[in-house]
Amino acid sequence: MDLDLVFLGTSASMPTARRAPAALLLRRGGERLLFDCAEGTQRQLQRSAVGLPEIEEIFLTHLHADHVLGLPGMLKTFALRGRDELGLTVYGPQGTRHLFGHLKPFLGRLPYPLTIVELAAGDVLERGEYRMDAFAVDHGVEALGYALVEPGRPGRFDVEAADTLGVPPGPERGILQGGDPVTLSDGTVVTPDEVLGPARPGRKIAITGDTAPSPSVVQAAHHADLLVHEATFGDEDRQRARETMHSTAGDAAQVAKLADVRMLALTHVSPRTLPAELVRQAQAVFRETVVPRDFDLIEVPFPERGAPMLVKRGGAAADRSAYDSGAMSRMVQVATAGDVTEAEELQELLRNAGIEAELEAAAEDDALQVLVPEGALEAAQDAIEALSEPDDLIAEP
Ligand SMILES: [Zn+2]
Ligand SMILES: [Zn+2]
Repeated sequence: MDLDLVFLGTSASMPTARRAPAALLLRRGGERLLFDCAEGTQRQLQRSAVGLPEIEEIFLTHLHADHVLGLPGMLKTFALRGRDELGLTVYGPQGTRHLFGHLKPFLGRLPYPLTIVELAAGDVLERGEYRMDAFAVDHGVEALGYALVEPGRPGRFDVEAADTLGVPPGPERGILQGGDPVTLSDGTVVTPDEVLGPARPGRKIAITGDTAPSPSVVQAAHHADLLVHEATFGDEDRQRARETMHSTAGDAAQVAKLADVRMLALTHVSPRTLPAELVRQAQAVFRETVVPRDFDLIEVPFPERGAPMLVKRGGAAADRSAYDSGAMSRMVQVATAGDVTEAEELQELLRNAGIEAELEAAAEDDALQVLVPEGALEAAQDAIEALSEPDDLIAEP
């Protein structure tokens, strides 16, 4: 059963040229669950390898604009596509029903059934093969985190042991695998523990939405394979993070460490802080940290098959991710500098971001091209973009 998360929007508070605001698609087998639906989410889906599926369930972490503004547009698109019988359920904290009251003038009469389910921390949705826990977070408003929790699975069936004990191939083995004892034709009773290896854990993914570091998150994320935690700020903005009920990269890493998770993914990041810097700050506390970009995905295999893995551009439409194997070493232009001073400033900035840039004379008089390895192009663009972001950005909501 495949399980992964596609990062559709990873920016805090507002879209930037390179990051959309909060949206995350969880795929488990054929299921498609959307977590938060910021402005532009339907377009992020359309641009992704996923496309815009007929989503049946949306989980809202809280009702701040940068997590819900994409709802009216997407719900209207479903209507325009002629959706009629297939229902849509929106789960969210208290106030979600009220929000939809306000959306009514935009939505009009939808041709398909829309159900709003308000949840409280501690609520558990039993969903057959797994459960979804709503857990408390600390954001100063009604807000929830969500944890997808699969139950443990029976241990591996030991064919050799079954042969030795004289269990014939057939239904008896199925019964043992299901956890019940069987009586053989000679009257011997064989119990499951004689033929099954140790129970194997299921998987767990915890998604916080916006939150200050919180013991309730540590508890809910305990031993998760993947914790998706917000990190709106770098550690240098700790005070701002406290005032606005958000987290720094270091805060999130501390939560991940206390919860003893396998991987931490930081999202809801401010463009003011370089992703590479957030990773560095978080990894000082918790080694297995990543900062996905839009259209990256994280695969979460069963534990015995390996660790969760970040697949860069794994959720991007195929033509956007195509580059050849020589691309990592090819130098490409990331910027043009007007003079030597500006060029050297850019070079220094990129070096601070861990990127070795080269300068090359451009066609115009004093202009210089700033070149970086193609594999580092995105990071270099991020670094230069961060220069042009407003200084007093965010972070409310
Ligand atoms: Zn937010
Ligand atoms: Zn918020």
